[in-house]
Amino acid sequence: MKLIILAAPGAGKGTQAEMLSKHFDIPTISTGAILRKSIADGTELGEIAKQYIDKGKFVPDDVIINIVKTRLSEPDCKNGFILDGFPRNIAQAEALDASDIEIDTVLTLEVEDEKIVERLSGRLECKVCGSSFHKEHRKPKKDGVCDNCGGALRTREDDKPEVIRDRLKTYYEQTEPLKKFYADKGMLKVAVGKDEIESTTVEVLKVLEG
Ligand code: AMP
Repeated sequence: MKLIILAAPGAGKGTQAEMLSKHFDIPTISTGAILRKSIADGTELGEIAKQYIDKGKFVPDDVIINIVKTRLSEPDCKNGFILDGFPRNIAQAEALDASDIEIDTVLTLEVEDEKIVERLSGRLECKVCGSSFHKEHRKPKKDGVCDNCGGALRTREDDKPEVIRDRLKTYYEQTEPLKKFYADKGMLKVAVGKDEIESTTVEVLKVLEG
């Protein structure tokens, strides 16, 4: 399974990618998570990325493409992977096409805009391992503490309301056209996001395996 998950920020693609990763026993490659880790580690890449991410802007394509190619060449990606957050525009998809990386399926997760804004503004992220939670829909067992590693939870800088609007605008301008790009290649599968995480997973698996 070499899969791309394509959806608006907040549609739940990170959460579903996590489920699929367990189900198929393949790694999720999240460009956003790699960039946030670089920022937390204070690397040179992190310093560059921070200037863009905090404003809700895309990190330059050449930086992202290098990250993805390097990560996908690691041995754990040999039997499959899930790309979460890449490609994000036509130029990145064309660079992927031109590389020797093969993709089987592109899954899109459809969620209404109002739900997206509500989900993003309640989202919490673990400072340490990057796991995602929500103040209402996916509460951690203990307030402010990550279920997976015990790290502290925080609101992402780019989940602040003024940045959310910019991110959604960028999504519709740059990422949504990828649906047609992949539909034209016969690679697109569409899942409709539900209110419950588990019901969405059932739907996603039905679309992928059905
Ligand atoms: P995400 O966790 O996927 O929502 O990504 C968080 C932020 O990281 C985005 O708003 C972008 O600033 C940056 N980012 C992640 N993936 C990409 C990408 N493929 N191209 C450009 N910027 C990206």
